[in-house]
Amino acid sequence: MDPSLPDPASSLSVDSVADSLKSQSLREQGNDRINKENKNKKVKLSLEDLNWDHSFVRELPGDPQSDSIPRQVFHACYTKVLPSAEVENPELVAWSDSVAGLLDLDSHEFERPDFPLKFSGASPLAGAVPYAQCYGGHQFGTWAGQLGDGRAITLGEILNSKSERWELQLKGAGKTPYSRFADGLAVLRSSIREFLCSEAMHFLGIPTTRALCLVTTGKLVTRDMFYDGNPKEEPGAIVCRVAQSFLRFGSFQIHASKGEEDLGIVCSLADYAIRHHFPHIENISKSETLSFSTGDNGQSVVDLTSNKYAAWIVEIAERTASLVARWQGVGFTHGVLNTDNMSILGLTIDYGPFGFLDAFDPSYTPNTTDLPGRRYCFANQPDICSWNITQFASTLMAAHLISDKEASYAVERYGTKFMDEYQAIITQKLGLQKYNKQLVNKLLNNLAVDKVDYTNFFRSLSNIKADPGIPEGELLVPLKAVLLDIGKERKEAWASWVQSYIQELVASGISDEERKASMDLVNPKYVLRNYLCQIAIDAAEIGDFGEVRRLLKVMERPYDEQPGMEKYARLPPAWAYRPGVCMLSCSS
Ligand code: AMP
Ligand code: MG
Repeated sequence: MDPSLPDPASSLSVDSVADSLKSQSLREQGNDRINKENKNKKVKLSLEDLNWDHSFVRELPGDPQSDSIPRQVFHACYTKVLPSAEVENPELVAWSDSVAGLLDLDSHEFERPDFPLKFSGASPLAGAVPYAQCYGGHQFGTWAGQLGDGRAITLGEILNSKSERWELQLKGAGKTPYSRFADGLAVLRSSIREFLCSEAMHFLGIPTTRALCLVTTGKLVTRDMFYDGNPKEEPGAIVCRVAQSFLRFGSFQIHASKGEEDLGIVCSLADYAIRHHFPHIENISKSETLSFSTGDNGQSVVDLTSNKYAAWIVEIAERTASLVARWQGVGFTHGVLNTDNMSILGLTIDYGPFGFLDAFDPSYTPNTTDLPGRRYCFANQPDICSWNITQFASTLMAAHLISDKEASYAVERYGTKFMDEYQAIITQKLGLQKYNKQLVNKLLNNLAVDKVDYTNFFRSLSNIKADPGIPEGELLVPLKAVLLDIGKERKEAWASWVQSYIQELVASGISDEERKASMDLVNPKYVLRNYLCQIAIDAAEIGDFGEVRRLLKVMERPYDEQPGMEKYARLPPAWAYRPGVCMLSCSS
């Protein structure tokens, strides 16, 4: 004790010291409780009280024109443009209380009679400063030039009580300068798919853009769903998408593609992204060990502390790798992995013709436009995203933000991160402690040969017991419901795999109960199969939104058993194996 300070104990009895400590501790407990209560006290705001901010518009160069005539936009990251979709008696189809929570929005606001008008863009939302973003992209491996928000209009960013930034965007709200030859609208069918899948992915634990609500416009939209000369009128709709940022690889590519003159915009955009979305990178300290040897001889060194843009792209590469590993884990196929559909935050973005695997087929693509080359099929996703990262790295190199060594290093880190995460995920799905390459390869081969349902197979796997004494004839009993219509030879192949699997389980030493509990946390029972979406769409198109809402509720708890909801885990019925249900075209 500091001798210059009076000894508190000298003037107090032991009891009073104890009392004083007790009251101090009670005071601390009280403070803790109050802090907790304050934290738990949900801020509930009305639409009028949302805390808008407009950093994108404020900090980045904009288009001086604000008309919606399709055109090339130069030297600008956005064009201010107002929602313009025609609307007549719009209705609220579905909403997410969970997303309202992110915005501090009171869920009762969904009940407001003017809510559908505001979220169809028909009446302005106080505080919003709407704009469409300019971006480009590689589509199916070819540079496509300017694309941009052709039908999505951002309303602005909302800062919540935790100082988190959330951008709100109306998809299907009318033409912008980026609409090219199209109408700027969206149909109910694809909007239901985007709304439900955004939320389903979030609850599966996969990074994604979110969806606050879905409204009909009350107007019809003409669509040639298969591009085959048979246009049909369909109900129009608008989804309000929410993400911390909708910046894509293509948001940077477009400016680099314009040459020297616009390279400064690539730099400003990168600075903006780092400032708001990767603030930790701004503060990387020299003391962090972030230098790495690269190349065959280990002679070249990439020091991530000396270049924030290099550290940034490495983080983007790793986030992307981790995202793709998670897609592969749940059997999700995006369907259109163009560079304009790659989020710099590592989010799943732009739900079009996506699909979850039913029968396991590595070459499955849900996109009819992708059929010729199957560039975006399930098994290609890891390689395609590596190609996309390479394009993004070239953009940063062109803008002199990173060196060629740093670019190759980012791509290398993508590969390493993907393999690490994928192996970890598949090991968890099997309920094992250690990755077993041979076991996994044999399993994937078996699943493909017998076209086994991917989701239901992994969910059933936790019923296998770590008992080496199970008679050969009974090995497949726990998998009976998922190994359908297989002949004797295939049964033998599966029994042999189950035997090796049981050996691994025994070696892991984990109890059956504990393993089942942990496996059920990573192998979902419910995924948003395309046929489930279709049933909800068919009902919604004739005015019944109940099934969309029910499906959302089921998909909010994908890892729970949910007694009574088992029909949502069933295989697709025969009618679902037709284009339009299990496969869709690009921008449907
Ligand atoms: P997507 O395939 O939805 O990622 O869209 C690719 C590009 O086409 C983006 O620039 C979209 O904004 C644009 N686009 C898609 N559908 C429409 C539409 N109906 N009206 C205007 N632009 C669209
Ligand atoms: Mg897109």
